[in-house]
Order: sequence, then structure tokens, then C-alpha cells
Amino acid sequence: MSGKPATPAARLKPATLAAQAAGAIDPASGGVVPAIHPATTFVRDTDYVPTVDGNVYARSHAPNARLVEDLLAQLEGAQEALVFPSGMAAVAAVFRTLPAGAVVLVQSQIYWGTTAWIRDFCTRRDVRLVEVDSSDTDAFAQACAQERPALAWVETPSNPWLRITDLAACAEAVHAAGGLLVADMTTATPVLTQALSFGADLVMHSATKGLNGHSDVLAGALACADANSAIWAAIRTDRDTAGAVLGPFEAWLLLRGMRTLPLRMERMSANALRLAHQLSDHPQVEAVLYPGLTDHPGHSLAARQMQGGYGPLLSFVVKGGAQAALRATSRLQLFHRATSLGGVESLVEHRHTIEPHTGIPEGLLRVSVGIEAVEDLWDDLAQALGQ
Ligand SMILES: *Cc1c(COP(=O)(O)O)cnc(C)c1O
Repeated sequence: MSGKPATPAARLKPATLAAQAAGAIDPASGGVVPAIHPATTFVRDTDYVPTVDGNVYARSHAPNARLVEDLLAQLEGAQEALVFPSGMAAVAAVFRTLPAGAVVLVQSQIYWGTTAWIRDFCTRRDVRLVEVDSSDTDAFAQACAQERPALAWVETPSNPWLRITDLAACAEAVHAAGGLLVADMTTATPVLTQALSFGADLVMHSATKGLNGHSDVLAGALACADANSAIWAAIRTDRDTAGAVLGPFEAWLLLRGMRTLPLRMERMSANALRLAHQLSDHPQVEAVLYPGLTDHPGHSLAARQMQGGYGPLLSFVVKGGAQAALRATSRLQLFHRATSLGGVESLVEHRHTIEPHTGIPEGLLRVSVGIEAVEDLWDDLAQALGQ
């Protein structure tokens, strides 16, 4: 009765799975979209058996969240997925599984919120944190061999540097050291990269970004290669008992957003690539960081690891430093000056203002390219930069 499909549709392509929300309908009404289930508690029959799907209480049994998890697991090729009330709640769920005294390897210069939280958590919990540039596979492998981490955390493409990490090589290195690989795939989404197929043990998403795609839901997700693994059991128990669950309305909106995920990623990637090329030719632009450009250091790896495009995120450095970058930003009329990424509307951010001490070039602008007509986006960028 949860609206789950009767037969798993693993053979179907992502666009089909997503558009049909992996078969989710409302069996009670026959509606082609699932209902929202706000109930926090569920009835038992006269023999004291839960009447539907084992549902007892909403912290453990959330029908709307389950539909999202089912769809995400299929898109990722995962055994199971779990949703959380934010991306950071998903990050925290992974790190809370670590025993005191553990060693973790975390990619340097990734999403700042992740770095800041992990640094603080590791200090408080007596977990030894080693930060390494995982886009340098040799450095990553050497760190694995030396430190023997319980867990390694990477993000590809990384935000906002757009570095590309070799998932298969990193999985091999960390597995050889006895640890697990977790990949934050927020920017790529499973449409562009299925990290588990490259050997990652867990995938993490800020579903707030591309998965939902409409800048109106805060959510996170994890998906696993092995639902019987100790870490997955610990994460599942932690969510049930500590209660970081996604509400039914948010889950319903997220499932709705995910129906168009493949279409949006295709359009955003095409728009971003076109803008990356045009920015590269612009006299006011010093550098463009986008893995779709053939001169990007991670291009050939990205071409193997990503399919159907290079994602919505691109950064470029404006000549003239912070002042010139902020001046260009102030002139933009279509791009919203706002943080976040992966929404249908284009956004621009001056990251140096937000994280001034992390080595971000002062003239760097990070752009999340939306699904608008690319000609309009280019006209806006060109007038803002000055021809
Ligand atoms: C936004 C983001 C997060 C954090 O997710 P929230 O949903 O904001 O909690 C983690 N990783 C990356 C790459 C992100 O962009």
C-alpha cells in the first residue's frame, strides 16, 4: 500500500525510472502520483500485528521517504538508500559511526560546510583527520597506505574547485588499506556518475541541490553498495534512534523534483559547457574551471567517469581580483546572487567573501548553471563582464 512498484524495474533507463518515480502511484485512489502521508503512528490489527508494511511509528517508518529511497537506490544501482533532513545530517550520520581513535582521510578543499563540520567533529571525538588532495591519486594512495584510514571521503567534481577524483583508483587504495570509500556526489548526481559502480562503498548527496533541483527542499541522502555491511547497519540504526528523518511533505516534493532529474542534468550540463567555452574566450576572464573543457586537468578522467555531461557547476576567475569579480556580480540581472547549486535557476557566488582563508582566488565566481535559454545566460554574463 505504500505505492511501491510490484516488480523492481532495474533494467529501465534513468529517465524512465525518474519520470515514473520508480512506479510510485497512490494505490488507494488510483492517482498517478503518490499521496502525502503525514501520519506519525500506524494501527495494528486485532492480533497486534502492524496492518501495512510493518509500519509502527514515523521515526522508523515513513512512506513518503521510502518512495524517494526506492527511486534513488535504483538510480544509483544501490542496494539501499536513506534520506535525511539535510545533506549535513547525512554527512553526520556517516561520521557518527566512527569509533574514537579512528583515522579518516578527507579530501582537501571540498564543500566548505563539510570540511568545517568534519574538522570540529574529529577534534571533539578524538578521530584523527588527515586532509589530502584526492584528485592527486598518488598522494591519496600514499596517504591510505601510511594512515590506514577507516574511511576516506571524496567529492567529485569538487565544490568550488571542480577537481575530479578517480573513484575506482581511490576505492582500490582505501580498500587495500582496510577502509571504506564515501563519495559526495551532490554535483554529479547519479545521472552523470554512479559512484558505487566505480567501487565506492557509500554515496552521499545534498538532495537540496540537483536531486530536488527547485531550491525548495532541504534534504540529504546516502546510498550503499552493501546493505548488510556494518557501517550501513549502524547508519540505519542511528537514523531510526537519533531521528534525523525527512518529513513527508519534503519527501513528497523531493520525489516530484526527481522526476525531471535526468532532463535537468542534461540541459544544465549542455548550458554549462557552452558558457565554459564562451567564458574561456572572454578577455576579462583569467581562467575557467570546468571538467568539460579539454584543457581541464581532470578532463579525460571526467570523460570516463561521467556520462551525458559534466554537471551544472563551473567556476571562473575574473581579471582584476575581488573588486572586479564583485562588480561583475552586481551587474548580473538573470543570475541570482545566492549560494547553493543544482536548481533550475542560475546562481552566482563570490566564494572568497564566504571563505576568505581557504585559498580561493579573490576573483573566482562560482556559477550554478540552470535550465534557462543559454543565449540569455550568456548575454547576461557578457554584459556583466563588459565586452
Ligand atoms: C550543499 C552541500 C552539502 C550540504 O548539504 P545541505 O543540504 O546544505 O545540508 C554537502 N556537500 C555538497 C557538495 C554540497 O553542495
